[in-house]
Amino acid sequence: MEIYVPDIYQEDIYKLDYDALASRGIKCLIFDLDNTLVTINEKLPRKENKELFKSLKEKGFKIYIVSNSIRSRVKPFHEELKVEYLPSAKKPNIEKLNNLVKNSKFGLDEIAMIGDSMMDDVVCGNMIGITTILLDQISKREFPLAKLRRFKEKKIQKKLRNKDLFTKGRYYV
Ligand SMILES: [Mg+2]
Repeated sequence: MEIYVPDIYQEDIYKLDYDALASRGIKCLIFDLDNTLVTINEKLPRKENKELFKSLKEKGFKIYIVSNSIRSRVKPFHEELKVEYLPSAKKPNIEKLNNLVKNSKFGLDEIAMIGDSMMDDVVCGNMIGITTILLDQISKREFPLAKLRRFKEKKIQKKLRNKDLFTKGRYYV
Protein backbone atom coordinates (compact mmCIF):
# COMPACT_ATOMS: atom_id res chain seq x y z
CA MET A 1 0.00 0.00 0.00
CA GLU A 2 2.96 2.34 0.59
CA ILE A 3 3.33 2.71 -3.18
CA TYR A 4 0.22 4.95 -3.09
CA VAL A 5 1.43 7.22 -0.30
CA PRO A 6 3.01 10.54 -1.35
CA ASP A 7 6.02 12.03 0.44
CA ILE A 8 4.23 15.37 0.62
CA TYR A 9 0.53 16.23 0.39
CA GLN A 10 -0.70 19.80 -0.17
CA GLU A 11 -3.81 21.57 -1.37
CA ASP A 12 -2.48 23.07 -4.60
CA ILE A 13 0.64 24.19 -6.48
CA TYR A 14 0.52 27.63 -4.86
CA LYS A 15 0.55 26.36 -1.27
CA LEU A 16 3.57 24.09 -1.81
CA ASP A 17 6.68 25.24 0.02
CA TYR A 18 9.24 25.29 -2.79
CA ASP A 19 11.99 26.68 -0.57
CA ALA A 20 11.52 23.65 1.69
CA LEU A 21 11.80 21.44 -1.40
CA ALA A 22 15.00 23.20 -2.40
CA SER A 23 16.45 22.67 1.06
CA ARG A 24 15.59 18.97 0.75
CA GLY A 25 17.84 18.99 -2.31
CA ILE A 26 15.11 19.05 -4.96
CA LYS A 27 16.30 20.75 -8.16
CA CYS A 28 13.89 19.42 -10.77
CA LEU A 29 10.08 19.63 -10.67
CA ILE A 30 7.91 17.44 -12.86
CA PHE A 31 4.35 18.76 -13.01
CA ASP A 32 1.26 16.96 -14.18
CA LEU A 33 -1.04 19.15 -16.33
CA ASP A 34 -4.74 18.30 -16.03
CA ASN A 35 -6.27 19.21 -12.69
CA THR A 36 -2.81 20.10 -11.37
CA LEU A 37 -1.99 23.29 -13.33
CA VAL A 38 -5.41 23.92 -14.92
CA THR A 39 -8.82 22.27 -15.33
CA ILE A 40 -9.44 20.07 -18.38
CA ASN A 41 -11.41 22.91 -19.99
CA GLU A 42 -8.57 25.41 -19.97
CA LYS A 43 -6.52 25.42 -23.16
CA LEU A 44 -3.82 27.82 -21.99
CA PRO A 45 -1.96 28.45 -18.72
CA ARG A 46 -3.39 30.90 -16.21
CA LYS A 47 -1.65 34.11 -15.26
CA GLU A 48 -0.88 32.50 -11.84
CA ASN A 49 0.76 29.54 -13.59
CA LYS A 50 3.04 31.91 -15.47
CA GLU A 51 3.93 33.87 -12.34
CA LEU A 52 4.61 30.71 -10.35
CA PHE A 53 6.78 29.14 -13.03
CA LYS A 54 8.69 32.38 -13.50
CA SER A 55 9.51 32.50 -9.79
CA LEU A 56 10.41 28.79 -9.72
CA LYS A 57 12.83 29.27 -12.60
CA GLU A 58 14.35 32.23 -10.75
CA LYS A 59 14.84 29.95 -7.76
CA GLY A 60 16.80 27.67 -10.09
CA PHE A 61 14.36 24.80 -10.56
CA LYS A 62 14.31 22.87 -13.82
CA ILE A 63 10.67 22.26 -14.78
CA TYR A 64 8.97 19.64 -16.93
CA ILE A 65 5.29 19.04 -17.70
CA VAL A 66 4.52 15.33 -18.02
CA SER A 67 0.96 14.60 -19.09
CA ASN A 68 -1.12 11.72 -20.35
CA SER A 69 -2.85 14.18 -22.66
CA ILE A 70 -1.89 14.34 -26.32
CA ARG A 71 0.70 16.70 -27.78
CA SER A 72 -1.81 19.23 -29.17
CA ARG A 73 -3.20 19.73 -25.64
CA VAL A 74 0.13 19.97 -23.83
CA LYS A 75 2.18 21.93 -26.38
CA PRO A 76 0.58 25.36 -25.73
CA PHE A 77 1.62 25.04 -22.07
CA HIS A 78 5.17 24.18 -23.13
CA GLU A 79 5.20 27.25 -25.36
CA GLU A 80 3.58 29.72 -22.98
CA LEU A 81 5.32 28.58 -19.81
CA LYS A 82 8.63 27.91 -21.57
CA VAL A 83 9.29 24.56 -19.94
CA GLU A 84 10.05 21.14 -21.37
CA TYR A 85 7.21 18.70 -21.83
CA LEU A 86 6.34 15.07 -22.35
CA PRO A 87 2.86 14.40 -23.77
CA SER A 88 1.09 11.00 -23.99
CA ALA A 89 3.16 9.90 -21.01
CA LYS A 90 0.97 6.84 -20.38
CA LYS A 91 1.19 7.16 -16.59
CA PRO A 92 0.99 4.94 -14.50
CA ASN A 93 3.23 3.10 -16.97
CA ILE A 94 6.67 4.29 -15.90
CA GLU A 95 8.62 3.73 -19.13
CA LYS A 96 8.39 7.24 -20.60
CA LEU A 97 8.77 9.04 -17.29
CA ASN A 98 11.72 6.84 -16.39
CA ASN A 99 13.43 7.72 -19.69
CA LEU A 100 12.94 11.40 -18.98
CA VAL A 101 14.39 10.97 -15.48
CA LYS A 102 17.38 9.03 -16.79
CA ASN A 103 18.04 11.57 -19.56
CA SER A 104 17.82 14.51 -17.17
CA LYS A 105 21.07 15.35 -15.46
CA PHE A 106 19.47 14.98 -12.02
CA GLY A 107 19.71 12.22 -9.45
CA LEU A 108 16.58 10.50 -8.18
CA ASP A 109 16.83 12.39 -4.90
CA GLU A 110 16.84 15.72 -6.77
CA ILE A 111 13.54 15.21 -8.63
CA ALA A 112 9.95 15.67 -7.45
CA MET A 113 6.79 14.54 -9.24
CA ILE A 114 3.84 16.83 -8.54
CA GLY A 115 0.30 15.86 -9.46
CA ASP A 116 -3.32 15.36 -8.45
CA SER A 117 -3.54 11.63 -9.12
CA MET A 118 -2.51 9.07 -6.55
CA MET A 119 -3.03 6.30 -9.10
CA ASP A 120 -0.90 7.91 -11.82
CA ASP A 121 1.46 10.59 -10.55
CA VAL A 122 2.22 9.23 -7.09
CA VAL A 123 2.48 5.56 -8.06
CA CYS A 124 4.74 6.38 -11.02
CA GLY A 125 7.04 8.59 -8.97
CA ASN A 126 7.25 6.10 -6.12
CA MET A 127 8.07 3.24 -8.48
CA ILE A 128 10.91 5.25 -10.01
CA GLY A 129 12.11 6.39 -6.60
CA ILE A 130 11.73 10.16 -6.88
CA THR A 131 9.99 12.43 -4.34
CA THR A 132 6.22 12.38 -4.80
CA ILE A 133 3.86 15.26 -4.08
CA LEU A 134 0.11 14.83 -4.17
CA LEU A 135 -2.23 17.79 -4.55
CA ASP A 136 -6.00 18.02 -4.49
CA GLN A 137 -7.56 18.01 -7.95
CA ILE A 138 -8.55 21.55 -8.91
CA SER A 139 -11.84 20.44 -10.45
CA LYS A 140 -14.09 17.39 -10.20
CA ARG A 141 -14.42 17.42 -14.00
CA GLU A 142 -12.08 14.84 -15.54
CA PHE A 143 -11.44 13.02 -18.79
CA PRO A 144 -13.22 9.61 -18.85
CA LEU A 145 -10.12 7.51 -18.19
CA ALA A 146 -9.07 9.73 -15.30
CA LYS A 147 -12.57 9.46 -13.87
CA LEU A 148 -12.30 5.67 -13.86
CA ARG A 149 -8.94 5.83 -12.12
CA ARG A 150 -10.33 8.28 -9.57
CA PHE A 151 -12.98 5.71 -8.69
CA LYS A 152 -10.24 3.18 -7.91
CA GLU A 153 -8.29 5.86 -6.04
CA LYS A 154 -11.23 6.48 -3.69
CA LYS A 155 -11.27 2.78 -2.75
CA ILE A 156 -7.53 2.83 -2.08
CA GLN A 157 -7.81 6.03 -0.07
CA LYS A 158 -10.38 4.34 2.14
CA LYS A 159 -7.93 1.49 2.87
CA LEU A 160 -5.10 3.96 3.49
CA ARG A 161 -7.27 5.95 5.87
CA ASN A 162 -8.19 2.80 7.81
CA LYS A 163 -4.50 1.95 8.15
CA ASP A 164 -3.76 5.58 9.09
CA LEU A 165 -1.30 5.85 6.20
CA PHE A 166 -2.99 8.71 4.38
CA THR A 167 -6.07 10.88 4.97
CA LYS A 168 -7.53 13.16 2.31
CA GLY A 169 -7.56 16.78 3.50
CA ARG A 170 -4.90 16.25 6.17
CA TYR A 171 -1.99 18.06 4.56
CA TYR A 172 1.65 17.40 5.41
CA VAL A 173 5.13 18.21 4.13
MG1 LIG B 1 -3.93 15.16 -13.40
